[in-house]
Amino acid sequence: MAVHAVSKVAEDLNPFRIAMHQFDTAAEKLKLDAGLREVLRTPRRALSLSLPIKMDSGAVKVFQGFRVQHNNARGPCKGGIRYHPNVSFDEVQALASWMTWKCATVNIPFGGAKGGIICDPHKLSKSELERLTRRYAYEISDFIGPDRDIPAPDVYTDAQVMAWIMDTYSMTRGHSVPGVVTGKPTFLGGSLGRHEATARGCVYVTRCACEVKNIDHKRATAAIQGFGNAGSIAAELLAKIGMTVIAASDSRGGIVNPKGLDIPKLVAHKSKTGSVAGFPGAKAISSNDVLELDCDVLIPAALENQITLTNAHRIKANVIAEAANGPTTPGADAILRDKGVLVIPDILANAGGVTVSYFEWVQDLQELFWDVEEVNRKLEKIMGKAFADVHECAKKFKTDMRTGAYVVAIDRVAKATESRGIWP
Ligand code: NAD
Repeated sequence: MAVHAVSKVAEDLNPFRIAMHQFDTAAEKLKLDAGLREVLRTPRRALSLSLPIKMDSGAVKVFQGFRVQHNNARGPCKGGIRYHPNVSFDEVQALASWMTWKCATVNIPFGGAKGGIICDPHKLSKSELERLTRRYAYEISDFIGPDRDIPAPDVYTDAQVMAWIMDTYSMTRGHSVPGVVTGKPTFLGGSLGRHEATARGCVYVTRCACEVKNIDHKRATAAIQGFGNAGSIAAELLAKIGMTVIAASDSRGGIVNPKGLDIPKLVAHKSKTGSVAGFPGAKAISSNDVLELDCDVLIPAALENQITLTNAHRIKANVIAEAANGPTTPGADAILRDKGVLVIPDILANAGGVTVSYFEWVQDLQELFWDVEEVNRKLEKIMGKAFADVHECAKKFKTDMRTGAYVVAIDRVAKATESRGIWP
């Protein structure tokens, strides 16, 4: 009841304040000491960069970029780089803190970081994109490194961008340093299975959630918002385990067919036309409509703040697996909790990506590479254990999976911080 009263009030959509709220809710459950709370919620350091680039036309344009290192108590900072017109400092701070909690949720020895450049990569030529990436990489080169902070791909960055960063960083060191980034091409020290890892991890925990909710995944239906790396591969893997994917969307629109979409054909359509829109045999809907369809599993795999006070009460799925970072606001979380929806939070649902990034880093440092079966086996083990830890913790604290995941994660980072001590 209280929640519906809140829905009349304008919702705070600032991602960093949302991340702080999520942290505070769990810190309260853990009765965390006030000083330690302050240490853990504040980013360790942040860079704001002006990046002058010579455009193909000969004109000079200055772009703005960021790199935020949130925490390194458990190991080097780790986190992707986003190229998007809506990147902001607060978004990067939020994404950096989510990385800290994500790495701790799956118990891999990394802290959290994130980077971003305010730009629309679709409007840049390949050579402009390369110059922008190299300038950014050079500017952050004193702050990153295999033992300090290891970038990776995020929205609208890919293996090619990582290869440019690796090359630029290596030039500043005088030798090749493959371990400075993950998500590289496999022929440059990238890991087999990394490209699919976020979606694969998401599908593993979706299966766990279906078991908890007594849903037979072979008879279940799914809708997916966002059809990039995370969303499109999740669709392929869900279809492979027998789930019926009825709807998908991207930034240009959505499509639905209640009888199920032919995912390999949809992937081919998207790669040919650049969008899922116009897929033959499916009905056109808006990207937001995809969220509200009658289905068992909903996978938001685009951007933040998609499930909010405005639409949460219209969500019909029983399980939401957050492939995207920050798709659900705290107000929406409360509504979904009241409705009994099982939300697998981003810091668990999309942690497969950073987990295989960790494997990539380990392989680069050892200069010894694993086959894809070994990568996937290790990933499944880590995701299964993390789901069990979070589910157990949520039951123990009589809370939802998001707060359960934060409690697991904060407890691990707090213990590392306390035992290292505050220096000097
Ligand atoms: P991507 O660039 O490959 O794909 C993004 C997709 O979202 C595209 O299909 C784009 O069209 C779509 N999109 C953008 N705005 C949209 C809108 N308003 N409505 C519907 N679709 C929209 O990016 P990605 O790597 O798949 O990342 C997607 C999400 O997953 C992000 O939140 C990212 O932080 C998160 N994530 C990605 C990884 C990874 O390994 N790639 C790991 C963890 C989390």
